[in-house]
Amino acid sequence: MLDEEKVFKDPVHGYIYVNDSLIWDLINTREMQRLRRIRQLGTAYLTYPGGEHSRFAHSLGVYEVIRQIVQAFSRNSYEWPSEYNQLVMAAGLLHDVGHAPFSHALEKVIGLRHEVWTERLILNPSTEIHQVLKQAQSNLPYDIAAVINKTHSQQLVVSLVSGQLDADRLDYLMRDSVSTGVDYGKFDLARIIRVIRPWGDRIVVKRSGLHTVEAYLLARYFMYWQVYFHPVSRSAEVILKAILKRAKDLVTEGRSPDMPHMALEGLFLGNLDLSSYLALDDTVLFNAFNVWQNSSDPVLKDLSCRFLDRRLFTYLEDPDHDSDLYEKIAVQLRRHGYDPAYYLAVDETGTVYYDYYLGTETGRNKDSALYLWDDNSKRLVEMSRLSKPVSAIARERQVARRIYFPREIQWNT
Ligand code: ZN
Repeated sequence: MLDEEKVFKDPVHGYIYVNDSLIWDLINTREMQRLRRIRQLGTAYLTYPGGEHSRFAHSLGVYEVIRQIVQAFSRNSYEWPSEYNQLVMAAGLLHDVGHAPFSHALEKVIGLRHEVWTERLILNPSTEIHQVLKQAQSNLPYDIAAVINKTHSQQLVVSLVSGQLDADRLDYLMRDSVSTGVDYGKFDLARIIRVIRPWGDRIVVKRSGLHTVEAYLLARYFMYWQVYFHPVSRSAEVILKAILKRAKDLVTEGRSPDMPHMALEGLFLGNLDLSSYLALDDTVLFNAFNVWQNSSDPVLKDLSCRFLDRRLFTYLEDPDHDSDLYEKIAVQLRRHGYDPAYYLAVDETGTVYYDYYLGTETGRNKDSALYLWDDNSKRLVEMSRLSKPVSAIARERQVARRIYFPREIQWNT
């Protein structure tokens, strides 16, 4: 315990409270501080100018949501294993520590998911996080990694960090909504914390909390279409991927562009070690794009200028996978001197807002549904059976497929 409680002022939770010295020491590691230099929402700031918050703020927020939940569980003397409080709060704080700058676009270039790096950072003896955890308790790095990669034996604890109603989603939906100004992405977080409770190895919702959880699932639906799949943010990501692809191709061909940071060389050669990975953040990439605005390679130069000056690609919706349309645009591009390998992209995004399966379904041995606890009948009822709006968005995958290309080429369909 700390002698004096620490607080962070926060736009989502008001204050974030830290009493535990382990949590405080983890926050102050260099691997956690790096998250201050990585935006949570990648390219969304090019659509929503307020969407600039960091993964650090989100990680603190996830910790705070978990802290409030475990406190509420203890106050109400639910059957909650409070000996896991510190473990689950630390796991929430660290769950995104391996994120790359501009998250998913860069993951494709590196070919390694952030979850893999998160585990490496926690388990590798060279990191400050590992040392802080190990000093507190020799098995803690492995226990935290197990909670984050969902293999921990206490699945109830795992479900607070990743599940249908986990602290990660609860924080990022609220935070992304507050910072972008997309108000219908908000929901009543304080009441969600009041109506959830542990039940065996899962978190369930009190029957009277139905509408609160409906609002949360609908907020998720709105945020996906209004923010995460926004066509303009996706356009910026298409250009970002094209820049990274061009730089990588040049490195592969032995015509490497100027690399303002040593870690970039390893990134494009595919041999990043842990310390080079940690050196990568948004500032390193922005600096590279700045340098490449004056590159002798015309494609890298043009794409970098487009990204920095926000001259984004336009798009056509392509729900039917129209290969003729794609080919026609490619012909036009070549006619105008653009290489379709870098100036033409199909971007497909989609999700299921409430994806669940029941324990009894064939081939499934684990149940991932959201349940409401009915105190009168003493039964658990799966959410979509009680809610028309939820059953309308459950299970079905909604997809947007768009073809992106420079708006300079005239296109009339
Ligand atoms: Zn997260």
